[in-house]
Amino acid sequence: MEIIFNAVSFNYNVGLINEEQVLKNINLSFESGKIYGITGKSGSGKTTLIQLIKGVILPTSGNIVIDKKIVNKSSKFYENKKIGYVPQFSEDYFLEDSVDKELGYIVGNNTYIKLNSLNMVGLSEDYMNKKINELSFSDKRLISIAATLTYAPRVLILDEPGLGLDKFNKEKLIKLLKNINNKYKVTIIIVSHDINLLNQIVSEIIILKDGKILSQGSKEDIFKKTSLLNKNNIESPKILDFINLVQKEKNIKLGSYDDVRDLIKAVYRNV
Ligand code: ADP
Repeated sequence: MEIIFNAVSFNYNVGLINEEQVLKNINLSFESGKIYGITGKSGSGKTTLIQLIKGVILPTSGNIVIDKKIVNKSSKFYENKKIGYVPQFSEDYFLEDSVDKELGYIVGNNTYIKLNSLNMVGLSEDYMNKKINELSFSDKRLISIAATLTYAPRVLILDEPGLGLDKFNKEKLIKLLKNINNKYKVTIIIVSHDINLLNQIVSEIIILKDGKILSQGSKEDIFKKTSLLNKNNIESPKILDFINLVQKEKNIKLGSYDDVRDLIKAVYRNV
């Protein structure tokens, strides 16, 4: 499901004295089946951009085309759940007290769908018998993602999905999101300040600054723009810093790696 932004601007408080333009002439396209990262400082317009994709708000000018149709008041993409949204600290927003009921919030007693969603986040069917308050923090995060997956969204948007997770569970989450993207061809859009997380999972990056696109492109191209990143206080991935340092100090080209384990193998091969 392709999503295209054509010269989209968005103003809060239109016509009022405190009217503020928070997105300015945004041109973007999200292609089907890819994984995107959206980053930028607080207040740069990330949440507003996501609200526009969800159809909760409409552009003040320009238009958004989803599945070849211009989004307007009656298109209700959000309600028909083609676009799934997992908010920041999603585990705070459970509506039910058991996993079974939470997963059934939309699909009712459809056990097949509920089990399939559990399976997609790597949890066994035993979880169906658990109460929400028995779950660990990271399992709660996974259940909230599974609940969104019961709608079978074609686009899955996650706001800071790694926040509060330890290294092990973050890696687990990255693996399963990659798997969901790969196996079910769900387009994934991750909003995050965590450059290391984005580096491990996305193929495309969009950087917002003051409501405009500062830069967009493939992860490789974006992370090459070191002076632009430095100037805007955006860190580069640690793994890339290490690869560049080895090249500079030792004149050894290790290649490009997203996963530390692959990098370690490359170091052994080269040093
Ligand atoms: P981010 O998600 O990058 O932190 P937001 O999209 O939340 O950015 O905010 C962008 C700008 O829009 C900020 O200046 C913020 O104060 C303003 N803003 C966000 N929500 C509202 C709102 N409901 N009414 C008025 N201004 C808002």
